[in-house]
Amino acid sequence: MTTLALAPDAAPGVLAAQQQAYADLKARGLSLDLTRGKPSAEQLDLSDGLLNLPGAGTVASEAGTDVRNYGGLDGLVELRRIFAELLDVPVAQLIAGGNASLTLMHDTLTFATLFGVPGSTRPWGQEEKVKFVCPVPGYDRHFAVCEALGIEMVTVPMTDDGPDPDAVAALVADDPSIKGLWVVPTYANPDGSVVSTEVARRLVSMPTAAPDFRILWDNAYAVHHLTDDEVHSADAIGLAEAAGNPDRVVMYASTSKITFPGSGVSFMASSPANITWYKKHLAFQSIGPDKVNQLRHARFFGDAEGVRSHMRRHREVIAPKFDAVVSILRDRLGEHGVARWTEPKGGYFVSLDVVPGTASRVISLAKEAGIALTPAGATFPYGNDPADENIRLAPTLPPLSEIEVAMDGVATCVLLAAAEAATGSLPA
Ligand code: PMP
Repeated sequence: MTTLALAPDAAPGVLAAQQQAYADLKARGLSLDLTRGKPSAEQLDLSDGLLNLPGAGTVASEAGTDVRNYGGLDGLVELRRIFAELLDVPVAQLIAGGNASLTLMHDTLTFATLFGVPGSTRPWGQEEKVKFVCPVPGYDRHFAVCEALGIEMVTVPMTDDGPDPDAVAALVADDPSIKGLWVVPTYANPDGSVVSTEVARRLVSMPTAAPDFRILWDNAYAVHHLTDDEVHSADAIGLAEAAGNPDRVVMYASTSKITFPGSGVSFMASSPANITWYKKHLAFQSIGPDKVNQLRHARFFGDAEGVRSHMRRHREVIAPKFDAVVSILRDRLGEHGVARWTEPKGGYFVSLDVVPGTASRVISLAKEAGIALTPAGATFPYGNDPADENIRLAPTLPPLSEIEVAMDGVATCVLLAAAEAATGSLPA
């Protein structure tokens, strides 16, 4: 990969021009936010039909149970069937839960810490040390869960096809304290990469020193396409079973960015042994999920095609915002060699790499000019981006007109910081 830097002979001219552009930017008194991957109000409106569902008098599930009452730990089969098709997993191995897949991930690791998982010799919490492999850049909340539970994190680089399988395999082969790996297989947060079937096959079949090694396969963006090239996630659970490691993969998903974050439905799929294990511990926590919400989601979508067509409407709203981000980066930064960015085919983010050592400067310049960006280092465990070069951009929430202004401002900050670095004037 080429090193990002401003050509030394161009630096003084760029510095002067961008200092002026930055002064003009600050004078505008902006207040814009590209921090978190939240749907816009226009996207939320697409699911307003849910607010009238399941409708007065609708209380029976397909199986005839009263959804208003307790019970049904697995979740409603009519909704599980829809998502089993979308996620390419058997219905019997998919459970539908509450409003956040992050809860399911946190609970998986909490149950593992307290009780161990199938294949463990003791609870993870009784091990001297437990470590997880974290591909970087990655999702800050995955890292936060590990940190909260005292799980140490070791990083591996991402590639265009997901986590670097050689780097992962080398780490897990000899170290029994490494109990797991985070993967966002489809349109990863933040780099948009998609795990190829080849990489998936390697990850599910590689030898691991820990007998109870788990891959937390967070398929949060399985159906969140931005182009006609609607990629199909690799069938990690099926591949793991075929490789003789049926319990290795636990998949998560949710409707948070399909319907309403906060009022959606989460899903978890895995081997029969893992699902039985999970439900055994879940049963102490809950008598059953919110089946009224699950029923209204099932009625709202109708079938898997209903979800797909709903996601195409999301795409109509957000694809122009991603196009604006990419075209402004290209126009403003393309010729200078000071940045590299992803052009995602789905998901919620654009990952921007700037001149090493300047990401935190770019973010603080933007902040001073009224443009909020995700904090420096957020895409790395412990908030530590060793090269200080990665910035996560989240363009879904603001209106298009604001994205355009914000991104032009970000480009000014990237260029100014690059010029400061090249002229030795970067503030300490
Ligand atoms: N996983 C990833 C990769 C995400 O980007 C997000 C949302 N930012 C989540 C999980 C959160 O999902 P949920 O709302 O279902 O907890």
